[in-house]
Amino acid sequence: MTVASVGEIIWVLGIIAWYFIRRPYERRAKRVRVVSNRRSRSETIGLAAALFGLAIVPGFYVATGKPEAADYPAHAWAVVVGALTFALAMWVFRKTHKELGRNWSISLEIRDKHELICRGPYALVRHPMYTSFLLMGVGQAFLLSNWVAGLAGLVGFAVLFVLRVEKEERMMLEIFGSQYRDYMDRTKRIIPYLY
Ligand code: SAH
Repeated sequence: MTVASVGEIIWVLGIIAWYFIRRPYERRAKRVRVVSNRRSRSETIGLAAALFGLAIVPGFYVATGKPEAADYPAHAWAVVVGALTFALAMWVFRKTHKELGRNWSISLEIRDKHELICRGPYALVRHPMYTSFLLMGVGQAFLLSNWVAGLAGLVGFAVLFVLRVEKEERMMLEIFGSQYRDYMDRTKRIIPYLY
């Protein structure tokens, strides 16, 4: 087995873990009433970009080996770094779902009896789930030795993040007012102590 295929297998296992972490929350979300919905065209574009970059483009690469011209030699150290980063991403992803619980939505939505969560990873940054997407993108870049499939995740993350984060914070400010303003004063967005 080649180093490149080990990286690909680890990426596939990571995506399977992602799916099983998210699934129960997606099911539960169907049962909790939405009281305010901010779905828009930019939301749809952001979610589609994340799906393409973090799942469809790398999935296509793993299944077909295309685009071959963008391949570069794989290194064992890169696969190790990628595996550790992806594992960290899934640990953070799981924690954010556990903390958000019934308040989670795939899109910008406020749910019935929505509670502002400020504990666990939310005590450090306001958007730890997006931190986990960033870590996934970094992990993917190290696991897949192909410029297109490897970097697609970071591009997808960036598009989602740019299109969403300000709108999300505006929505949270509208709903939670000074409680969210105070929360913003004591937290960073996605990188603890930095940004
Ligand atoms: N941006 C957050 C949450 C992503 S899920 C993160 O990266 O961890 C998106 C939904 O989570 C939004 O529709 C919003 O309703 C909800 N949300 C975001 N921050 C929240 C918080 N601190 N407490 C409760 N719900 C939150």
